[in-house]
Amino acid sequence: MPKYADIIVNISREELDKTFQYRIPDELSEIVVPGSKVEIPFHNRPAVTGYVISLSDEPKIDETRIRKISGLAKRSLTADDTMMALAAWMKEAYGCTLNQALKTVLPVKGTIRKGKTRVQSVPLPSQEERDAYTQAQLNPEQQEAVSGYAQETEGQNRPCLLFGVTGSGKTEVYMEMIRRCIEGGKQAILLIPEIALTYQNVKRFFLRFGDRVGILNSRQSAGEKYETVRLAKEGKLDLVIGPRSALFVPFPRLGLIIIDEEHEHSYHSDLTPRYHAREVAEKLCELTGASLVLGSATPSLESFSRAESGQYRLLQLPHRAMADAKLPQVYVADLREELKAGNKSVFSRLLREKIEDRLEKKEQIMLFLNRRGYAGFVSCRYCGKPIVCPHCSISMTYHRDGSLHCHYCGYSIPFPETCPSCGSPYIAAFGTGTQKVEAIVQREFPKARVLRMDADTTTGKSGHSRILDAFGKDEADILIGTQMIVKGHDFPRVTLVGVLAADLSLYAPEYDAAERTFQLLTQASGRAGRGSRQGEVVLQTYMPEHYAVLSSAEQDYEAFYREEMAFRRLMHYPPAGGLLIASVSGPDAAGTELKTKALREVLEDTFLEQAPLITGPAEGTEFKRKDVFRQQLLIRHPDAAVLRKIRDYAGHLLGDTIQFDLQ
Ligand code: ADP
Ligand code: ZN
Ligand code: ZN
Repeated sequence: MPKYADIIVNISREELDKTFQYRIPDELSEIVVPGSKVEIPFHNRPAVTGYVISLSDEPKIDETRIRKISGLAKRSLTADDTMMALAAWMKEAYGCTLNQALKTVLPVKGTIRKGKTRVQSVPLPSQEERDAYTQAQLNPEQQEAVSGYAQETEGQNRPCLLFGVTGSGKTEVYMEMIRRCIEGGKQAILLIPEIALTYQNVKRFFLRFGDRVGILNSRQSAGEKYETVRLAKEGKLDLVIGPRSALFVPFPRLGLIIIDEEHEHSYHSDLTPRYHAREVAEKLCELTGASLVLGSATPSLESFSRAESGQYRLLQLPHRAMADAKLPQVYVADLREELKAGNKSVFSRLLREKIEDRLEKKEQIMLFLNRRGYAGFVSCRYCGKPIVCPHCSISMTYHRDGSLHCHYCGYSIPFPETCPSCGSPYIAAFGTGTQKVEAIVQREFPKARVLRMDADTTTGKSGHSRILDAFGKDEADILIGTQMIVKGHDFPRVTLVGVLAADLSLYAPEYDAAERTFQLLTQASGRAGRGSRQGEVVLQTYMPEHYAVLSSAEQDYEAFYREEMAFRRLMHYPPAGGLLIASVSGPDAAGTELKTKALREVLEDTFLEQAPLITGPAEGTEFKRKDVFRQQLLIRHPDAAVLRKIRDYAGHLLGDTIQFDLQ
């Protein structure tokens, strides 16, 4: 039993590293754990509240000078306690230190310039906009979704999955849920992916709920963020909208958390602790009794499988909300056929025809370049097949020395001269940039007014909104962009969406490449025909027979879900099994590889009985970065508890030189 506890007295971020050691009295030795709220004498005050950060056996100062914990603090549920409990849970769930967890959940203190009492990084709607606002009446489908949710809040309070096609009016449903929450005297948090946090998207909430709405986003200063957090804590806000970190707004009476576009990968943090907003929200709801709603047109496999098993309640909106808005007509253009017919342009004949037609009719067009920043994958332009690792079924990546590697298991082969599937010599690395597409569009359609939206054109505070506003005001005929144009923007004059290369994300070297592709294609198609005119979509692809392409063209989520789940089961990938990625770092390539190999052997020995499936060492996607080399092991096991054990064990062995991502 540890004898001492390191305690923080003040739960503000700057003080986190300042701990004081106290002795644990015998009668509390089994009760005091990291995260416990205790009462301690402090300086000349007989009793203040402190939080236990860690336990130790050794005194850090002369033992006679260490004072004793007086007792457990009486449980009063403040927002601070909830955050503390959440941090203690994150430490276990994500294998980080309590300190790292606390730094994640506690707000950054900042300074606010004098005289500014309210900070809003988006302009409030004008009086004109307020006057013009009318609330949509909910249609029967939407009402049914709300009443399903209401039943749940009064009964089991299971999380709800709102599965609604693009344009089905999920936002109206959220607003009704939020209204009920506020009316009950509670507060709500709405998570929206950062990329969709535009003025257009949040304006509706100000119009509906007035200005007791706070916004958080990454472009704000620490001071601006802190001000929103302070107002929320004081009960001066009813709703906070923000990215994943908005979960940590310490509302005194949290009633509802909504995660919009719940399948989005930005909800999975890429910093330590690598938490997932969905998991943290579930825990937070368990701690506070709040309700959880997840919404998407393309739910993650994780969530949909939970809805299937009854762990979540499924709420569905299968139709578009506006009376005359129909789901778009989707055409698939086979790029292999184009090549065979001598068309080497980025546009299929069908897409070119339709672009000309829309320019003529003065309707708007979105061209989407599916580019997730993966360089170095190789595919055959003749048969469309990528080169896939025989052990892991993921795309292999092109390597500096000219060979192809699997970054899951390390398997490698020399660069083939002909396609292993069809024998054609048209095998090459793949990729076009948005800038190049813009130049081609301007050359081929000289009269069209063109806007481009990608990482280069959206720098600065308002880069995003500037381009979206201009397009919304009809200042351009064609908007070209990467995935950032497909996220939840509502442009009623867009009647044609062209997806230039649907395959690019399909070849991404990740086990969930097909899922991401299906999501992107479905979201992109969802941009077409949101007004009263029928929308059309042209999906250009080298693999028209792939189920991710087929089922998104048919707008059949469940067909996709069934195929993809079969693949995950076969390969033991999540959600059919647990996956732990352990990434080992070191200053030189050979040493890091040796260390990783040794780790694999140690783990296989130690966990012989549980028999986890371990592959690697392999170079991850970030093999070398800032002179640090990385090698990774992929560890699969159906039981997440076993993976957590392996993680903690490996963490003890390698300390700072190993990082984990448990999925
Ligand atoms: P989603 O978030 O599901 O893609 P939105 O909430 O953006 O869909 O709604 C799509 C469009 O339908 C919006 O213009 C919205 O104002 C409209 N809408 C939503 N619900 C209704 C309704 N009940 N009656 C009429 N229009 C509606
Ligand atoms: Zn081929
Ligand atoms: Zn492999």
